[in-house]
Amino acid sequence: MVKVNTDKEQYEKLLKTMHRFNDACNDIANVAFKNRCANKVKLQKIVYYDIRERYGLSAQMTVRAISKVVESYKRNKKIKPTFRRDGAMVYDQRILSWKGIDRVSILTLDGRIELPIVFGQYQAMRMNRIRGQVDLIHRNGTFYLAVVVDVPEEEMIKPVGVLGVDMGIVNIAVDSDGDTYSGEEMDRVRERIESLKADLQRCGTKSAKRHLKKISGREARFRRNMNHCISKELVAKAKDTQSIIALEELGGIRNGTTVRKSQRRRQHSWGFYQLRRFIEYKAALAGIPVVGIDPAYTSQECPVCHHISRKNRPNRDTFRCGLCGFSGHADHIAAMNIAARVTVNLPIVSGFIEHELQEQAPTL
Ligand SMILES: [Zn+2]
Repeated sequence: MVKVNTDKEQYEKLLKTMHRFNDACNDIANVAFKNRCANKVKLQKIVYYDIRERYGLSAQMTVRAISKVVESYKRNKKIKPTFRRDGAMVYDQRILSWKGIDRVSILTLDGRIELPIVFGQYQAMRMNRIRGQVDLIHRNGTFYLAVVVDVPEEEMIKPVGVLGVDMGIVNIAVDSDGDTYSGEEMDRVRERIESLKADLQRCGTKSAKRHLKKISGREARFRRNMNHCISKELVAKAKDTQSIIALEELGGIRNGTTVRKSQRRRQHSWGFYQLRRFIEYKAALAGIPVVGIDPAYTSQECPVCHHISRKNRPNRDTFRCGLCGFSGHADHIAAMNIAARVTVNLPIVSGFIEHELQEQAPTL
């Protein structure tokens, strides 16, 4: 995400263009839906001149609007897609060009304008790898450019071990070595946010609701940041130890089985989906395979004698095998089980891992 610094006049110009673009999209969507047409070329023949004339869009903007509609309509042909007035506007190299690392030239309804941008160090390094389309995004009175960059992936490691990772509510992530990834700071912030939210919900006034919304945004940013930190640490450790990363397969996605209630809650509560995505893409960049394993009974199975029983978990934190007496921290045991399920497959079918990787290849 690249922040665009606009003065008032430039801001108005961008906003006007964005509104006009999305108005046009809604109009095009009407035609697409009425004619049941999700074909870009056909749709373009029908609407192009009319849209250009009525909305005053440039040729390329019109083409982009048609593409946006087609892509959205294709996803679900049962409903007519609608577009928010300040929904993302798609730019390509013909209507947007980079002027070094701190300026960008963007086409508006009033012609091209050159704008200063704030490029993070990360992006500046990858300036030459910017690829194709850029989305212009309007958020809280500021414009951003969402840029896609190509990042070369490192060569795949030759794995010598497996790092199993258990994700939970109390401990966001625990690995099969028993290392826990949820700092005290995170706990503190989470507690503070939770109690603040509870207060505001009890209060229930209009301003409390507004405040609540603000806090939710802050919470999402905090979570995202934490997930970045945790995934980074995990991947660094896997790289150091030349290990594959093993995670529980998200229930139901692979084999259509239903998700246990406890698991469902877990998956939603701390953005585990986000954490998984972060681990997957960071691992891909570092050449670390990530495999998903069947999550059944990972919290109840004894890693030593494989006895499975609910009674092996006398309480949330403790695992104690009812058969052989093996005991430890429950999350650590779960992570060990997760890792063990991969080890079993590792030497027998090495192709399995590559296959798994392709299936889970992250989109960058
Ligand atoms: Zn046992």
